[in-house]
Amino acid sequence: MTRFFLTTAIDYVNSQPHLGTAYEKVCADVVARYKRLCGVETRFLMGNDEHSQNVFKQAQERGLDPLTYCDEMERVFRKAWARLDVSFDDFIRTTQSRHKAGTAEIATRIYNAGDIYEGVYEGWYCVSCEEFKQEKDLVNGNCPLHPTLKPEWIREKNYFFRLSKYQQPLLDHFAAHPDFMQPEIRRNEILRLIEGGLIDVSMSRAGQSWGIPLPWDPTSVVYVWFDALINYASAVGLGGDRAMFEKWWPADLHVIGKDITRFHAVIWPAMLMAAKLPLPRQIFGHGFMTLKGQRMSKTLGTIIDPIVAADRLGPDPLRLYLVKEITFGGDGDFSWERYDERYNVDLANNLGNLVSRVASMAHRYRAGRLAPAAATSDQLARIAEQVVADYRTSMGGLALHEGAAHAFRLVDAANEFIAATSPWTLAKDPSQADRLSQVLFDSAEAIRLAAVLLEPIMPSSCREILRRVGVSDQGVNFDRDGMWRNGGERVLLQEGPLWPRKETTTVSDNPLPPDGPSPGATPPAAPPAPAAASGDARISIDDFMKVELRVARVLAAEKVEKSKRLLKLSVDVGNEHRTLVAGIAEAYEPEALVGKTVVVVFNLKPAKLMGIESNGMVLAASPDGGRPTIVTFENPPEPGTRVR
Ligand SMILES: [Zn+2]
Repeated sequence: MTRFFLTTAIDYVNSQPHLGTAYEKVCADVVARYKRLCGVETRFLMGNDEHSQNVFKQAQERGLDPLTYCDEMERVFRKAWARLDVSFDDFIRTTQSRHKAGTAEIATRIYNAGDIYEGVYEGWYCVSCEEFKQEKDLVNGNCPLHPTLKPEWIREKNYFFRLSKYQQPLLDHFAAHPDFMQPEIRRNEILRLIEGGLIDVSMSRAGQSWGIPLPWDPTSVVYVWFDALINYASAVGLGGDRAMFEKWWPADLHVIGKDITRFHAVIWPAMLMAAKLPLPRQIFGHGFMTLKGQRMSKTLGTIIDPIVAADRLGPDPLRLYLVKEITFGGDGDFSWERYDERYNVDLANNLGNLVSRVASMAHRYRAGRLAPAAATSDQLARIAEQVVADYRTSMGGLALHEGAAHAFRLVDAANEFIAATSPWTLAKDPSQADRLSQVLFDSAEAIRLAAVLLEPIMPSSCREILRRVGVSDQGVNFDRDGMWRNGGERVLLQEGPLWPRKETTTVSDNPLPPDGPSPGATPPAAPPAPAAASGDARISIDDFMKVELRVARVLAAEKVEKSKRLLKLSVDVGNEHRTLVAGIAEAYEPEALVGKTVVVVFNLKPAKLMGIESNGMVLAASPDGGRPTIVTFENPPEPGTRVR
C-alpha cells in the first residue's frame, strides 16, 4: 500500500470538544503519525458537521447567522486540536462547496439507480439526536439518550433510501472482508443487526432551510446524517476533483465511536454500493471515555476540557495517557489522580529519569561524547529487536495501547541494564574503560530507539529526546531509524528534566478547608475577618451582597473515592450545570440528593478537593459534633433564583 487515507468522525458543532472527542482524534493522529513514520503517504481528515438543526437553533438563539456561528466553532475546535498536536492534513466543513458537490453527486447517483423513493414519514423523532426513533427504541416513551426530552411525532414528506435491498450484499461484504469492521465485538454487533433485517431509512427532511437541497427536489434538504457520512468522499474530490478522488478513495480507515457504528458500517457502505463507489477498507469503533466511571456528559457536569488537561502536564503526557492506559476499542476511564500518577511513573520516574541519568553519566565519564567500543552490543540490543518487532505488529493491528507498552518495555530494559552493569563501578576500574564506553553507548541507543517508537504518541517530546541523545533533526523514518545501531559518535546534551515530578495536588493551594464546606468538623482555613479584632464582627449589607447565593437543583451525586465526608454533586444553577464537592456524605446517601433543591454559593472561587474541581458550595447547617443538614425549600423555586 503506497498511500493511507484515514478519517475521524466529524464533530457536531453544537457543543465544545471534550476529552472523549479528543480521545478519538489523538488515537487517529497516532495512527496517522505511525503511517508517516513508516514512510507511507498519508492523508488524515477531520472536520465539523454543521448542517444540524440544533446548530441552526443555537445560532438563532445567539442572534447569529448559522454560518457565522459555525465559523466561530471551527476556531474553537481547531484550537483544541492544535493544543493536542493533532496533525490532520485536511479539515472539512459540511457547509463547504466541495462537500455540497460531493453530496449532490452521491445523492444523484443513488437516485438514478432507483434506490431513493418518495414517501411519507410518520413517527417519533428525537430533536437532540436528530434521529428518527422506532417505538421499540424508546424507554418510557422517551429517547434513551435524552430521557428528559419528549420525542416529537412527525409526519412529513421524506425521501427514503432503499437500505433493505442491501442486506444480502452487506452480509456478503462482511463475509469476504473479515477486517471490515473492527474490533471483533463491534463486528458481531453489526452482523447481528444486519441479519435481523434492514428497513429503508429517511434521507431527507422537508420544510427546512439549513442543509443541502436535494438536486431533484430543492424543497427538501439532505438529512444531516446522510449528508455527514459523505464528507469522507467529498473531502477527497468526489463530484469535483476526479484525479484526487481516484488517488485517495476508498478510505483505508474510518475511526469512529462505538455509538455510530450502524451509520458507518451499515448505511454508509450501502450508500456507496448504491452509488457504485468502492467501500472503505476498514471501520474501527473505539470505546467511550468515562470520568471516574461516569459517562462524560454535559448534563452530568462530567465534561473535561482537553485544553485544561493538556495544560496541566503537557499535550504529550495527555496523549500518552489516552493511548497507553485505554485499550483501543474498549472503554476507558480518566481521573486526574490517575493522570498525575501515570505521568510520575511513566515519564518523570521512568523515561525522563533515564534520559537525565544517561546524559549525566555520559558527561561525567566521557565528556558527553559516546562511541561504541565493542563490535557487538550487549543483550539490550536483542531485547530492543524483539520490542521493535512486537511494536510493529501491534501498531499495524491498531493495538495502539500495546504499541505504547512495548516501547516502555525497552525503557524498562534500559533502566535494568544500567542497574545490572553499574557504570559507576566500571568507572572506578581503568581496565573496564571499553566496557564502560559500550554500556553508556548502548543505554543511549536504547533511548534513541524508544524515542523513535514513541514518536507517533509523543511527537514533540520525542524530537526533544532525539536532540538530547545527539540525533540531528532530519525527521524520523522507521525503516531507517527503527533498528538497533552500534556505530557512530553521539554527543549527548545535559539539560534540565524533561518531566519534573508532579507532586499530588494537596489542598495547600486551596482556599477551602481540606474536606469541603462543612465547618462542623473542620474549621475554615480562612482567618476571621479583620473587623473581628475591633470587637465588631458584623458586616455591612454590601459585604453580604457580595456573596451570591442561588437556588440549585441536584442532578447527580456520587461519593468521592477515599473520602468519608465528601460527595461530588452536579447541580443545575439555572443557566449552567456545575460540579461541586460538599462535605455531607456522612448525612446523605448520594441517591437521596438527586432532585433536591439546595442553596449554593454561586460566586465562590473554584477549589480542588481530592482532585475534583469544586465550583461553588452547598449551604448546610452544621451543628458542633453533629451531622450537617442541607438548606432546602418547602416550595422549591426555579434553579438560578437568587437567595438574599
Ligand atoms: Zn435522543
